[in-house]
Amino acid sequence: MSGDDIIGLDARHIWHPFTQAETAPPVAAIVRGQGARLWDQTGKEYLDLVSSWWVTLHGHGHPAIARAVAEQAGRLEQVIFADFTHEPAARLAAEVTALLPDGLERVFYSDDGSTAIEVALKIAYQYWRNLGRERRGFVAFEGGYHGDTLGAMSAGRSSGFFTAWDDLLFPVSTVPFPATWDGDEAVADREEQSLAALARLLEGQPAAVIVEPLVQGAAGMRMCRPEFLRRLAAMVREAGSLLILDEVMTGFGRTGAIFACVKAAIRPDMVCLSKGLTGGFLPLSMTVATDDIWRAFLGQSIDRAFLHGHSFTANPLGCAAGLASLALLRSTDCQTRIAAIEAVNRTRLADLARRPPSRGAVIARPRICGTIAAFDVAGQGDAGYGAAVGAVLKKAFMARGLLLRPLGDVLYLLPPYCVSDGDLHRAWDAIGDVLQSLP
Ligand SMILES: *Cc1c(COP(=O)(O)O)cnc(C)c1O
Repeated sequence: MSGDDIIGLDARHIWHPFTQAETAPPVAAIVRGQGARLWDQTGKEYLDLVSSWWVTLHGHGHPAIARAVAEQAGRLEQVIFADFTHEPAARLAAEVTALLPDGLERVFYSDDGSTAIEVALKIAYQYWRNLGRERRGFVAFEGGYHGDTLGAMSAGRSSGFFTAWDDLLFPVSTVPFPATWDGDEAVADREEQSLAALARLLEGQPAAVIVEPLVQGAAGMRMCRPEFLRRLAAMVREAGSLLILDEVMTGFGRTGAIFACVKAAIRPDMVCLSKGLTGGFLPLSMTVATDDIWRAFLGQSIDRAFLHGHSFTANPLGCAAGLASLALLRSTDCQTRIAAIEAVNRTRLADLARRPPSRGAVIARPRICGTIAAFDVAGQGDAGYGAAVGAVLKKAFMARGLLLRPLGDVLYLLPPYCVSDGDLHRAWDAIGDVLQSLP
């Protein structure tokens, strides 16, 4: 099919996510991906610096994952997951829990980040009910994003994306997220305020506290300190509530450690994983819970069980991709790349902040966590997710073959781990040029 035919069918029939079709630029039809690169119908090349919405870990079309999926498809493509199990699901659960802090032993599979969050919220709620204790509410962080289904939207309602459905969402209390950056001197004060607000809400005996650990993704790659998370985790434990970590984006090496909770040395009660779980090949997610939580669902009556499931729960192809991706992630090669990405980003971002463009943009709040680098583009009109500068930047980068999608006035890089130092340097050169060209 020709490129134009694809675009024509798309224009007639497809409704794209997070897109105002009336004003959006034309879509590109991607026909191939390899490593950190994508090619469209005209042969134009893109360097994927956002891991295709934060999912791709080892690059597009990685042969080891492609082979694992193909082999699994030839053996068993799918099976109902009630009354049945299979090797890829059992092995992947064992391998992931071995990498998580002690005590997180039970894996509930679902399909994407949003459903992993729904599952965690529903488990937390029923856990207290099964124990015969009254704990109902949830506490979340301002700006937190947990997905687009109704429960996940409720937990992330302060993110501002969901005004159309405000009346449908259940109430969730929020505390400020003490975002910080290089050279920030007031972070300790903000952390105290946040913890004080949390302490007040914990008195109300919430069922659980949910947080994106170390990095709030959709809020604009807002980063907090590990010591803040340690105090938070201790307070939640002390208050007897449950701590849910949304590691849908931060999981599988993004923060430099395998999981943000490992880097921060905290032990949550549940962890939600998706995005990088399959190396970005297939939709799959996990909600991992402690054995203590699991035991609260045991009993003779079906009512005590967790009555939740999806058609494709623990899909064998996704699990096979997950196992292949984990094997790659453990290789020294991959660990070297993860460290190298952080090193290049640190040098280049520090350079840019020290010697900003002579005109145009102001580089504000430079910050790095593992393979994620971000800064605010200030001095260009409004700030926040709706900032007009985001669209201007995106267009300029796309024209140069760089897939970068600013979150409003926040420019970030979140590349697949296979990206080379040379490609990263090229991206930073282009970022400098584009920022210089702003009015
Ligand atoms: C992307 C994301 C989600 C939602 O995942 P989907 O797979 O898009 O449903 C939830 N939480 C965080 C932190 C995310 O980045």
